[in-house]
Amino acid sequence: MVANKNSLEFAREMDQADNLKEYRSKFHIPQFNGKDTVYFTGNSLGLQPKSAKAYIEQELNDWAKFGVEGHFEAKKPWFAYHEFLSEKAAKIVGAKTSEVVITHSLTTNLHLLMVSFYRPAGKRYKILCEKKAFPSDQYALESQVKFHGYDPKDAIVEVAPRSGDHLITDQDIMDTIRKHGDEIALVMIGGVNYYTGQLFDMESITKTGHEAGAMVGFDLAHAAGNVKLNLHDWQVDFAAWCSYKYLNSSPGGVSGMFVHQNHENKPELPRFAGWWGHDKEVRFLMEPGFKPMKGAEGWQLSNAPVLGMAAHLASLDIFDEVGMDRLIEKRIKLTNYLEEIVQEISAKYSAICQFEIITPKEATRRGAQLSILVHGKGKSLFDALTKQGVIADWREPNVIRIAPAPLYNSFEDIYNFGQSLEQALQNN
Ligand SMILES: *Cc1c(COP(=O)(O)O)cnc(C)c1O
Repeated sequence: MVANKNSLEFAREMDQADNLKEYRSKFHIPQFNGKDTVYFTGNSLGLQPKSAKAYIEQELNDWAKFGVEGHFEAKKPWFAYHEFLSEKAAKIVGAKTSEVVITHSLTTNLHLLMVSFYRPAGKRYKILCEKKAFPSDQYALESQVKFHGYDPKDAIVEVAPRSGDHLITDQDIMDTIRKHGDEIALVMIGGVNYYTGQLFDMESITKTGHEAGAMVGFDLAHAAGNVKLNLHDWQVDFAAWCSYKYLNSSPGGVSGMFVHQNHENKPELPRFAGWWGHDKEVRFLMEPGFKPMKGAEGWQLSNAPVLGMAAHLASLDIFDEVGMDRLIEKRIKLTNYLEEIVQEISAKYSAICQFEIITPKEATRRGAQLSILVHGKGKSLFDALTKQGVIADWREPNVIRIAPAPLYNSFEDIYNFGQSLEQALQNN
């Protein structure tokens, strides 16, 4: 082993030893000046699996060949297309197949799930969430409480970091749930925070929420395909996630929905219904009177957007082959290596610029992403990185988010990132 970790040799040794190394070649890596970019935004839009094209072409061809008959005659009949995805998606989130359905988009699904699981009544009408939730989630929560006639200022309880801190402690979330107790109708949290990269203790939060008599749901946009999830065992009531971040399934791609088995057979649950959620045995009788499918499928509104689902299936097949355990094992090594490199460079250039990694240090409290607070010339540093072919993400006022994705990022990417960072610091 090479002693100096911040060296090309060391990075290449790590890549040699990586048993997922061959997966990089299964993705299209965006190019910059004839070379691979350092693509660290798999937390925003995952890269395209090369196989996606064939999966989509299959459906284009079947559409050309069969027209409407493709619903039944296509190689993967479209009327049941979502069924090809459920089991593979369920493994990623730790669910039973019947608890998961792939459909619609993320924010739509959050709303549909809240229609069923945010049921304010009497004293119990509040939603507890984390401060600085992803804006779409904030708007969704706000509009849900208004829809039921409440004032968001009163009905939304946000748990914030303690003063001077960037992270919200799991303990503070649980204490706040207990404090508000019988006022909380719903606990709705982003399992991994998009800004800080913090992974919350979903199991304990769920337990505490249930003890207080609340429903508990999670937005898993930054968690699915990134961290270990056990939604079924944790007794989570519902969850939703998008497929285009760590799950590499095309921009604006289809979303996943989880509804716990505990709720699978409750036709009396209020919901917004559509024909695709109707009992499939009698769906095409086109009769009045909605009869929901058992399980998560009963929350579907519309027939499957097959082209988007084909892209998702291409990616799910890769996840299925690799499995979350191997993926997580590599993810931890990659992110730890990235952290070491950033810290070494930070120490070396401390006279010019200070980096503060606000993401938790423990692997059990984070996923792939590191969020670096840059004290000093943040945006110009970020722009200098972009000019060198590093694709990262800038969040106002001064955070650079970087997320090496274990399926296609290499240790060499991280070494190259470090080199670009040093260059940028020297020129800044
Ligand atoms: C990415 C993301 C979204 C995006 O929602 P869409 O409906 O897919 O546009 C919502 N919530 C969170 C937490 C996200 O990270």
